This record gives sequence, structure tokens and C-alpha cells, in this order.
Amino acid sequence: MKDIKPLFDDESLMKEPIIIAGPCSAESEQQVLDTARRLAAGGVRFFRAGIWKPRTMPGCFEGVGIAGLPWLRRVKEETGMLVGTEVASSAHVRTAVAGGVDILWIGARTAASPFAMQEIADTLAELRCDLPVLVKNPVNPDLDLWIGAVTRLYNAGVRRIGVIHRGFSSYGKHVYRNQPMWAIPFEFARRFPDIPVICDPSHITGSHDLVAPLSRHALAMGFDGLIIESHCNPECALSDASQQLLPEELTSLMKELIAKNKPAGTPELDSLRGEIDQVDNEILDLLAKRMEISKRIGEYKKQHNMMVVQLGRHDRIMKDRTEKGEKLGLPAPFIGKIMSAIHEESVKRQL
Ligand code: PEP
Ligand code: MN
Repeated sequence: MKDIKPLFDDESLMKEPIIIAGPCSAESEQQVLDTARRLAAGGVRFFRAGIWKPRTMPGCFEGVGIAGLPWLRRVKEETGMLVGTEVASSAHVRTAVAGGVDILWIGARTAASPFAMQEIADTLAELRCDLPVLVKNPVNPDLDLWIGAVTRLYNAGVRRIGVIHRGFSSYGKHVYRNQPMWAIPFEFARRFPDIPVICDPSHITGSHDLVAPLSRHALAMGFDGLIIESHCNPECALSDASQQLLPEELTSLMKELIAKNKPAGTPELDSLRGEIDQVDNEILDLLAKRMEISKRIGEYKKQHNMMVVQLGRHDRIMKDRTEKGEKLGLPAPFIGKIMSAIHEESVKRQL
């Protein structure tokens, strides 16, 4: 993709990592303005708030819709921040552009739908819209689908394009809400070096406490910016309550990140560490899953009056796992130690 333009012409907006912050959803004028004023006071230049919320389950808060646009305009007028919202249809694009929104983003569920993407692209072309458009990765880990979504916009003449890495949905319990699968955004960045890649630690982690460490990591790995959810009263948020930071938490994190980001880090080492973190999270997810199964086995054994430890089975497991480990270059004593610790914990779950 040639002639990609910067997201913003104003160079002062582009010299540091882009930090976009604001609530998951605009809920009321007071909540939007309170959050925005506090973020602006801490130096945030880009404000986000969803007014149309694509929720997985019906009956959840689906956004205030068009009523939120004047609130965003007030944010802009009062604080000078540029404001962004999510669009998922032609009607959203028309309404948001007419309503003075400065940045459009396309959510993960919409990015996975070629028809919706084409409809949005056609509308942007018809409006000759020159606003920056950020495309989140589709919910499923499909790089081509992501590239396809971006290409539809490009073919429609959109030149201020960025992408947002928000992780990928998966089944079961995990440390992170959405799996980062870093290789996918890295491959995107390798193929399209002119398109900024922004990381969304809020939707990747799904958890307030994990947002700061993941944000540090993302910038150290070379992401061009972050989009982070922040709410004036996170516990009462109508959507994504568990992952939003107080505005002051966010702005102090932002200051730390910008200060740290100045000298060139060691991107290779940081990216390897990112991979290690990912694998460790996968190991933890699997251990939790294994223990859950042990618990169910324990319940079964209780119902059928069976002994918890069955030595034959334990010996077979140890032998099988050490043999398999050796084939993978993992020494038998090392696997022995790990499997014994796992077995000990498993037995506890069955008692
Ligand atoms: C959001 O940004 O609030 C949102 C709905 O995100 P995603 O599309 O990544 O789920
Ligand atoms: Mn959200």
C-alpha cells in the first residue's frame, strides 16, 4: 500500500507514541466530561468513547448512540482533545462524520465481516472522508482477514490508516481476555511498515492490574501507540468494568511510558521477552485447565468410592511424560520435577 498518509498532519501530535484514552462507552454527559477533563489535565491528546457498542450478548448496554455525539463535541471544545468513536455501519460513519468526530475506529467484530467493511469503505469514499481510520484486528486470528479489511479501506481511497492489535478470542479460561499472538501484529507491521500499529492492552488483558505491564511491554516491542480504556468510576462502568483505569492511573502510566520510550530500547530482547510471557501465560492457562480436570476426576472417584492415588496410573504418566519430554530435548530429571509438582497439586484437588 503506497502513499499512506500520517494519521495527523500536525507533527506535534505524532512525535511521541500515540496514546488514545477514554471510557469503553460514553454513558452520560457527566461521565464523559469528568473522564475527559481528568485525562486532558494529565496530558492526553486523543479521547476515545464508544457510542455504538457491539456486544456479544443481547441485553447488555449497547451504547447511547447519537445522543453521545454532542458530549464528544463538548470534550473537543473544552479540552482540545481529538475525539474518536467506533463505527460499524454506513449510518454510523455518516452520523459520526457529520457529528464532528476526528478519529473513526472499526471494532474487532466488524473487521471480521467483509460486507460490513465494504459498506463502511464505500461510505467513506462517497463522503471523501480524510479522517484517520483505525482498524482493530478481527476477533479470530486471521491475518489475511485483517489485511483484507484494511485493503477495502485503502481501495476506497482512505489514506490515513492505522491498525489496533486487541488480541484474539479463544475458548476457555485464560490469564488474558484475548490472546495476544504477537506474531500476527508483527507480521502485519513487517508487511505494511507505513501503517502505525497501536496496541490495545485493555482488551487484550481484560484486567485492570495487567494493563500497565502489558503497555510497557507493547511500547518496548515497538508498537506505535496504545489505546487504553479509562473511566471516572471504573467499578460502575456499564461495559468492560474490570479493565478500565482511573484517569489519574492512566496519565501517570502515560508519563512513565513516554519518559521511558525516549532512548532506543532493545527491541529484539523485548520482543523475545514478549514471546516468553506469551508462552508462560499459555502454560498457566493449561495448568489451570489440568487442575480443573483433576477436580472433576476427584468428584468422579468420590462418587464411585475409588482411591485418589492409583499408583499404576501415576507410574505410567511419569514414564510417558519423561519419554515424550526427552524427544523434545527436555531432560528427564527436569520433566520428573515438573510432573511431580503437578501430580502433587492434582492429588490435593481430588481430596
Ligand atoms: C472497544 O474498544 O470498546 C471494543 C468494543 O473493542 P473490540 O472491538 O476490540 O472488542
Ligand atoms: Mn471496551
